[in-house]
Amino acid sequence: MQPIITAENLSKVYRTGKIDVPALRNVSFTIESGEFVSIVGPSGSGKSTLFYILGGLTRPTSGHVSIDGSDFSSLTDSERTRMRKTKIGFVFQRFNLLPTLTAIQNVEIAYEISGRKEPLDRAYLEHLTQLLGISGRLQHRPSELSGGEQQRVALARALVTHPAIVLADEPTGNLDSKNSDAVLDMLLRSNRELKQTVLMITHNPEAAAIADRILHMRDGEITSIEAGRGQLAAR
Ligand code: ADP
Ligand code: MG
Repeated sequence: MQPIITAENLSKVYRTGKIDVPALRNVSFTIESGEFVSIVGPSGSGKSTLFYILGGLTRPTSGHVSIDGSDFSSLTDSERTRMRKTKIGFVFQRFNLLPTLTAIQNVEIAYEISGRKEPLDRAYLEHLTQLLGISGRLQHRPSELSGGEQQRVALARALVTHPAIVLADEPTGNLDSKNSDAVLDMLLRSNRELKQTVLMITHNPEAAAIADRILHMRDGEITSIEAGRGQLAAR
């Protein structure tokens, strides 16, 4: 079976004025469909850069990303955008909800933007918001929600399109431990029950440990790979 994500010799150099900042150095790995993988490393180690490149939001300086066998660099801009919208659900540290829309509108608009032909499955949406414990908060705007609630809305937004891949960059970075646990639990469920491939980036080794596999990053490189609890627990 081909991996669902392949990163091949990815390098990224940010050119800022006269100074070149190398953010990724020759990073390669593969992720199998159905895996839950964490990438953990200190601030500045290149995690977000990798996240943006894997999600097709930024181009690498060199190297290749393939999603489901399609090399991003061989796609046109519109093909890449389409791939992103149909295959990937994004979760960000700062939630990134649209402030003028209610929680439910934030989720609905994400579904519309994804361009799917079939209408939104209301029963699934209800199931999702119940699992996330936000059923009673759907008519509120982000400013009326706690950080934990906003991130759970953001998770509903990411999952409502049934993406094959969930990419999360520090999804618990702005949350207290109770809300972090709720978000981690939902990512685990999305992986185990909805069979989504999850790639979670974090600087928190405890959060990273829930994954099947943990890739450690430092100074733009993957320095080691270890098994996480997910793999150690017989599934
Ligand atoms: P992390 O997410 O692990 O904290 P980043 O990928 O954000 O790491 O950053 C990796 C390195 O690249 C850091 O040295 C950072 O300062 C630099 N960097 C990130 N984004 C930019 C940018 N847009 N322009 C210039 N340098 C950047
Ligand atoms: Mg980051």
